[in-house]
Amino acid sequence: SPRLNAELLLADILKCKRFDLYLNFDRPLNEYEINKMREYLKRRANREPLQYIINKAYFYKYEFYVNSKVLIPRPETEILVEHTINFLGKNFNGNILDIGVGAGNISICLANDLPDSKIFGIDISTDALEAARINSQKLLKENNLNLYILDILNSKEIIEFIEKNCPDKFDAIVANPPYVSIDEYANLQKEITDFEPKIAVTDNGDGLNFYRSIAENSETMIKRGGKIFCEIGKDQSESI
Ligand code: GLN
Repeated sequence: SPRLNAELLLADILKCKRFDLYLNFDRPLNEYEINKMREYLKRRANREPLQYIINKAYFYKYEFYVNSKVLIPRPETEILVEHTINFLGKNFNGNILDIGVGAGNISICLANDLPDSKIFGIDISTDALEAARINSQKLLKENNLNLYILDILNSKEIIEFIEKNCPDKFDAIVANPPYVSIDEYANLQKEITDFEPKIAVTDNGDGLNFYRSIAENSETMIKRGGKIFCEIGKDQSESI
């Protein structure tokens, strides 16, 4: 969709809405704006995702800050957020663990729509946590989200983390883990393979490593009767 992309890039440079481009269609661009537009178009033509160029991604009700260190939040993941909120209910006041917090999109949406809950967002990447922190400062309504660096594939780290931060264990876990297998990864579009963090997309294995870890550590992590909400790949439901 070249026209749409060009319009969104220009709207970003002019700090206006896409719609406003049509209202001011005869406004000439100054030299700075033309040069900026040339630079942006070159980057996009090189297949860099629009969201990384304008450092913005829309997700659920909000505009998130993103950069190339985090996965671009996807519309499918909004379904996970909606489902989790509907299932737990607005008055839910338990502890929720978000595994692989990325830009903070899932955690922040849950924190704002479940204001009595307490969200623990973990990620192995300090760069991702930094982006999540920026988004929390911008979008979080209450102070009900905490961010931690943690490797979910390391059971020892998980046990220590829970003993220290949530000894009663979690009431719910939510995750959109890297679930693309290494074989499928090779066939993804260049926008993904050349620009998005590989660590956020594939587990470098069969795509099930993170679900295995969640299952194996579930007794350590969640209370009896607790719930796990996950995004999964399209042919993975049987195995999971
Ligand atoms: N939690 C973030 C999202 O769902 C990041 C997930 C990831 O990096 N795999 O968009």
